[in-house]
Amino acid sequence: MAPQTNATGDESDEATIELTESESALETARRQLDHAANQLDIDPNIVERLKHPNKVHEVTVPIKRDDGTVEVFTGYRAQHDSVRGPFKGGLRYHPEVTRDECVGLGMWMTWKCAVMDLPFGGAKGGIAVNPKELSSAEKERLTRRFAQELRDVIGPNQDIPAPDMGTDPKTMAWLMDAYSMQEGETIPGVVTGKPPVVGGSEGREEAPGRSVAIITQLVCEYYDRQLEDTTVAVQGYGSVGANAARLLDDWGATVVAISDVNGAMYEPAGIDTASVPTHDEEPEAVTKHADTVISNDELLTLDVNVLIPAALGNVITKENAEAIAADFVVEGANGPITSTADSILTERDVTVIPDILANAGGVTVSYFEWLQDINRRAWSLKRVNDELEVEMQAAWDAVRSEFEQRDVTWRDAAYIVALSRIAEAHEARGLWP
Ligand code: GLU
Repeated sequence: MAPQTNATGDESDEATIELTESESALETARRQLDHAANQLDIDPNIVERLKHPNKVHEVTVPIKRDDGTVEVFTGYRAQHDSVRGPFKGGLRYHPEVTRDECVGLGMWMTWKCAVMDLPFGGAKGGIAVNPKELSSAEKERLTRRFAQELRDVIGPNQDIPAPDMGTDPKTMAWLMDAYSMQEGETIPGVVTGKPPVVGGSEGREEAPGRSVAIITQLVCEYYDRQLEDTTVAVQGYGSVGANAARLLDDWGATVVAISDVNGAMYEPAGIDTASVPTHDEEPEAVTKHADTVISNDELLTLDVNVLIPAALGNVITKENAEAIAADFVVEGANGPITSTADSILTERDVTVIPDILANAGGVTVSYFEWLQDINRRAWSLKRVNDELEVEMQAAWDAVRSEFEQRDVTWRDAAYIVALSRIAEAHEARGLWP
């Protein structure tokens, strides 16, 4: 099994990765780093340093099951780089969580935060566990024990976890509570993606999908395409896919296909996206509501203007890359395109907008949440969405400028923006001790 991203996830709130093919997240992340570094005048010593995580914490997480037996799980927190600020990134609960997967995903968080110019580094962690096999009480005990094990290495100025695959706002509330109880004071800034009632931000759950929609709109504008004349297929109808589809539908695009794990709804005249429940509202509702069901593989090769893979990782591979008929692929999930497929799409002149830019709205609103927690003052939904728009536009402008000046792919342009910022910070701080 190899890495796959689950953006809509059964329980995840956003873009995440799970392994299913032969290419591991760490291999892909290192390959992408080398590729981008080759196009930049960057100190090779810094590149070498960035290939390795700063620290990886491995912990044992024993819990009492509801039947009284004790089960022991393994948890990780890979802290990749913190030159620009505290480590930041999600925690996932998934049977295939491994040390290397966390390291690769943590590297992607470093680039994602840098491309958005957030004062954060990158991290990822999780527990090798199938959360579907745990009761809510067991999940709570697991999370509280994990928080206790990570207590010394997380904190609002150290490392700030967030939801990822298999975890959600409730998980973050337990984590924040366990950490706060041990510290003897309420510290909401230790995690983001919490429910608003305990210091979470308005608009956080919707944010990754919103950023995908904003970036899609900017791409269309850049290529002189009216949203009104644009057809869109979205794989996945969880928080990333559903929010992106609904916003693009509202803004005038024609969403012709959406999907859940069982298949896709296809309506060439356009789907009324608001009438189809999201995964969170009613799991697997897309196929239940569909008149015409096609497979998820067929959705990927539909002749549409924009394809948004917002479900699993590694869904566009060397097997189907030649058959992708869309002009633009906007990555809603983390890592939906394998490296080989990426090269094929580039050769075929398919424009690919990378995950580290497109779905970065999630971590950007996490940053807003952290600011609100530190200042003990909540922002309105309008302020969150307005500021997200400003940040997405700024990141887009920075990436566009590299794209134009260097004549590279959008992915390389985004990596160049991120790497330049990280390398500059490393140079400024130096290597010590
Ligand atoms: N798990 C999310 C991602 O992959 C966001 C992490 C965060 O908000 O820190 O982008």
